Amino acid sequence: MNASPRKPLIAGNWKMNGSSRMARQLITRLVEELPAGGAGPDIMVMPPFPYLQAVKSQIGSSRLLLGAQDLSEQPDGPFTGDVSAAMLVDLGVSHVLVGHSERRQFHAETDAAVAAKFEAAVGAGLIPVLCVGETLKQRDAGQAEQVIEAQLSAVLERCGSSAFSSAVIAYEPVWAIGTGRTASPEQAEEIHAYVRTLLAGHDDIMGSQIQILYGGSMKPQNAVALLRCKDIDGGLIGGASLKAEDFLAIAGAAGEDPDR
Ligand code: PEP
Repeated sequence: MNASPRKPLIAGNWKMNGSSRMARQLITRLVEELPAGGAGPDIMVMPPFPYLQAVKSQIGSSRLLLGAQDLSEQPDGPFTGDVSAAMLVDLGVSHVLVGHSERRQFHAETDAAVAAKFEAAVGAGLIPVLCVGETLKQRDAGQAEQVIEAQLSAVLERCGSSAFSSAVIAYEPVWAIGTGRTASPEQAEEIHAYVRTLLAGHDDIMGSQIQILYGGSMKPQNAVALLRCKDIDGGLIGGASLKAEDFLAIAGAAGEDPDR
């Protein structure tokens, strides 16, 4: 364990799950059961677009943060089905995922397209949560760092060497997302430390201050060991964020490290 200048962040990516009723019930429990006040980790929910506004009203002045799962790189215009950064800001959203592996895989988002979305988010005042990570095939071929470097470089090239000054990174090994298979704390820490060193090479302060989350089948049972790693500053949680008791337990685990 290490004294860290970074506040942990636990973010729940609901993906395309839920209903108005489910959202209302889950947020009610989170608002009631999360301890009030500024101590402990930041906690964020990232519901599907149709529920953002209702969740925002329900969150009120509680400590919960609101994030979205995607945005368009375009500011406005004839882009049917898309949602702009300005619209998210209008709804009171503070963070937005960019480059989640499911967007890269099922919507053919390239590193360049992800960088354009990142730029649009920052331009509107949103905090992008850039997801990076390798497939199993890439890991087995010893290419994990190379893949992640390319994903980060696309953003650095487009947005400049201080691109990550107001951003979050989520390391999400694709083979661990929704599979029940988690990276070991050692595997995750190795990549987190690599990302931090790489960013510090561009800007020392950026490297030491950026929050780097781990994502990939994080559950109450494995959260403590992952969250205790020196360079892991929180979690991006998919499946377990849909169950209040699991999400609350992970948030509790993030508050347990006395050095944070
Ligand atoms: C995710 O979708 O970002 C994720 C980490 O999912 P899960 O926790 O279900 O693996």
